[in-house]
Amino acid sequence: MGSGSTGDPGNPRVGLLVGDGIGREIVPAARDVVDAALAAVALPEVDWVPLPIGSDAISTYGTPTPEHTLVALADLDAWILGPHDSASYPDPFRQQLTPGGAIRKRFDLYANIRPARALPGVRAVSPHMDLVIVRENTEGFYADRNMFAGVGEFMPTPDVGLAVGVVTRAACERIAHTAFRLAQQRRKRVTVVHKANVLSITTGLFRDVCREMGRHYPDVDVDDAHVDAMAAHLVRRGEDYDVIVTENMFGDILSDLAGELSGSLGTAASINASDTKVMAQAAHGAAPDISGRNRANPTAMIMSAAMLLDWLAAVRHEPALGTAAERIRGAVERTVASGVVTADLGGLASTSEFTESVIARVFRR
Ligand code: ATP
Repeated sequence: MGSGSTGDPGNPRVGLLVGDGIGREIVPAARDVVDAALAAVALPEVDWVPLPIGSDAISTYGTPTPEHTLVALADLDAWILGPHDSASYPDPFRQQLTPGGAIRKRFDLYANIRPARALPGVRAVSPHMDLVIVRENTEGFYADRNMFAGVGEFMPTPDVGLAVGVVTRAACERIAHTAFRLAQQRRKRVTVVHKANVLSITTGLFRDVCREMGRHYPDVDVDDAHVDAMAAHLVRRGEDYDVIVTENMFGDILSDLAGELSGSLGTAASINASDTKVMAQAAHGAAPDISGRNRANPTAMIMSAAMLLDWLAAVRHEPALGTAAERIRGAVERTVASGVVTADLGGLASTSEFTESVIARVFRR
């Protein structure tokens, strides 16, 4: 990480992977907002490192995830990944791990952190929801990532499908620590979500290990819930929850539910993190239906970049990066509240108009 001998970590070095579809519009928007926020709090610039990924990389390098991109990422502090439209890739790439999946696996980005909080002025089913889903990202039933070699889903005959779910103590411990540490900075409450009445060995282990880790955080209240009950609770009283920690598939499903309850796809931010690397990635896809038309909502990507700054602030012990993240969140909220919103939220603003409005407000507190 940067020039080590003086203890100065140097400027953050952040990879810029625009991806496909609206990634070409929303990733540069997020970069420009980060640049503005750092300038607004008088911090040195980020060193951006553009790297090929997705369909452009297929045209130039014959693969959506070039090895030299992965090698370059290892040298960086963090990166922003735009969405990929892997369904449009030619065979055999369509069948392979997506670029995002390949990066998550290569760098063991075990924590997928997805906040769900309604933006003031955006019509939401749950306008008072303010929670974070901490999703275990490396095992469970997700066949593309839960095996050292091969995939965890197979077919012994054309009429039989089998899937292997993996839950290990080590993975439960580290994701539990992530959730409890996060709760300490918030309202100090963690809900462990499982299905231990049916999947008692696997999700029962998840529940028990998370509860065990909770004993190291006496200032945090813990409870647990079955995933099916949790879906109903989120709809009925989502505002009661603070941090929800859960295994991979439950987290995938619940975070989409919470994202939709608290706003829309265009506003749902996320990061994927290990102890040493972080990747900002909007929760939505490449939206090919609107790409290239300056209509995409860059909010999710911009808010994901703000989360990336928060994460860097913590690992680099540079609280000013967190102040820059706060500036970004405040500017997005004020922009949206002023009625400058993109078409997905019922407005008239283009991607660039929205972004310019956020940038102007970053400087104006
Ligand atoms: P994936 O499987 O990669 O998530 P998908 O096709 O399920 O992709 P999206 O690409 O996210 O889903 O698109 C779903 C719908 O939401 C589309 O109509 C798209 O235009 C819209 N959408 C997604 N993201 C945005 C955004 N940032 N701004 C505006 N509309 C968006």
